[in-house]
Amino acid sequence: MSQALDSTSAPTISRTRVRRRAALHTLGCRLNQSETMILREKLIAQGFDIVDFGDEADLAIINTCTVTRLADSKCRQAIRGFIRRNPEAYTAVVGCYSQMGAKEIAGIEGVDLILGNHDKMNVLEYIGEAEKNLAPVIVRERIDRDDFTMHFAGETPFEWRANLKIQDGCDFMCSFCIIPFARGRARSREFGDLMAEARHQVERGVKELVLTGVNIGTYQHSDRSVLEVVDALSNLPGLERVRISSIEPTTIPVELFDRMNDPAHALMPYLHIPLQSGSDKVLTEMRRRYDIAEWEAFVNDAAARVPGICIGTDIMVGFPGETENDFAESCRVLTENPLAYGHVFTYSERGNTPAARRDDHVPMEERHRRSARLRRLSSERRYAFYESNLGRETEVLFEDPRENTASGLTDNYVRVVLSGDGLSGKTAAELRNEFARVRLERVTADFVEGKLIG
Ligand code: SF4
Repeated sequence: MSQALDSTSAPTISRTRVRRRAALHTLGCRLNQSETMILREKLIAQGFDIVDFGDEADLAIINTCTVTRLADSKCRQAIRGFIRRNPEAYTAVVGCYSQMGAKEIAGIEGVDLILGNHDKMNVLEYIGEAEKNLAPVIVRERIDRDDFTMHFAGETPFEWRANLKIQDGCDFMCSFCIIPFARGRARSREFGDLMAEARHQVERGVKELVLTGVNIGTYQHSDRSVLEVVDALSNLPGLERVRISSIEPTTIPVELFDRMNDPAHALMPYLHIPLQSGSDKVLTEMRRRYDIAEWEAFVNDAAARVPGICIGTDIMVGFPGETENDFAESCRVLTENPLAYGHVFTYSERGNTPAARRDDHVPMEERHRRSARLRRLSSERRYAFYESNLGRETEVLFEDPRENTASGLTDNYVRVVLSGDGLSGKTAAELRNEFARVRLERVTADFVEGKLIG
């Protein structure tokens, strides 16, 4: 365990209690979700009962995000809410916001421990038998560059789809991004360790794994790249699907396309390729590593080589100096390329990044106006993509049912819902974590209604 860098003295209240109920809360990305799942495992191994975050608890671990100002504010809200509901509980705040905004968190009365990213997976060692503090202990160690392990024990009940963290950190230093500071430089998870977790996940019933990381295309451990990882996972008996989450455009090996087309390979026809802006001028100022022509050529090549592939993207709106014309270019790229959706992010000044230091910020009202416009376009793209799938008969992996409605995903990330006649006499509960063949029949705003066949 690391030394505390800037820990305040931590007088304790002399109140000895046995803490048994632990609540976990995750803000932000899939990476945080996969880390929280492992923290959950560790808590269970130490004898804690896991309760919902809204329930009474003796301990909370809140895994935070700092990607935008809004994310910071949501973290503070979650922390305050928990402490209000559980004033006697021990409150540990870990992750990206702890790394970057420890002072702000320390200003919230009732926080006991603030742990940055270097040590967050060891949070239980810090909590130990500690009493509730009068002042928070703050630990923000410099994040090292070594490859890492996670030691997943695999004790919790199965889920239909799980995130598998394979990488952390980023060396790209885009001018708007705080992640290289919050999560450190790029490093990869040891191959044997990630395969051990994958095996545990399959043993507990997981049929689909989603590879997560900050910049997963840069994965490199010994002589293995992301290609070797997807191949090894595809060969894992019992694992039916592998999906890659967000991957940087300049890091995608084209060999992935053959895997996606191979029915014997578990890799799904899905890519989420961040664009950020449709303007070459803005891309240069963002320090992105491609221009629009390259990005569009790649996306169109992927769509041509992998029929039916779902390609999604991230677009940032309101980067400093973004003109109406630059924004119009982002709209054009979203509408004129074979994209199934765009996640829209409103630019938010982050820490001491080069973009935040600029003096040509777009007024917040204008950022919101542009974001709303782009979100509408994204909904249209999703609708069109769903429509292009109508009539298909395909396998869907179903998740937890709600009442008698079953919901799941196709290989190419179409959200399919079955209810009433669509269930063809089955109950939704029977389909939980099962594959079933479905005909896609009707598009709604958020999903496709299907009918069970065969
Ligand atoms: S590649 Fe992504 S994580 Fe890395 S600096 Fe750029 S935006 Fe941030």
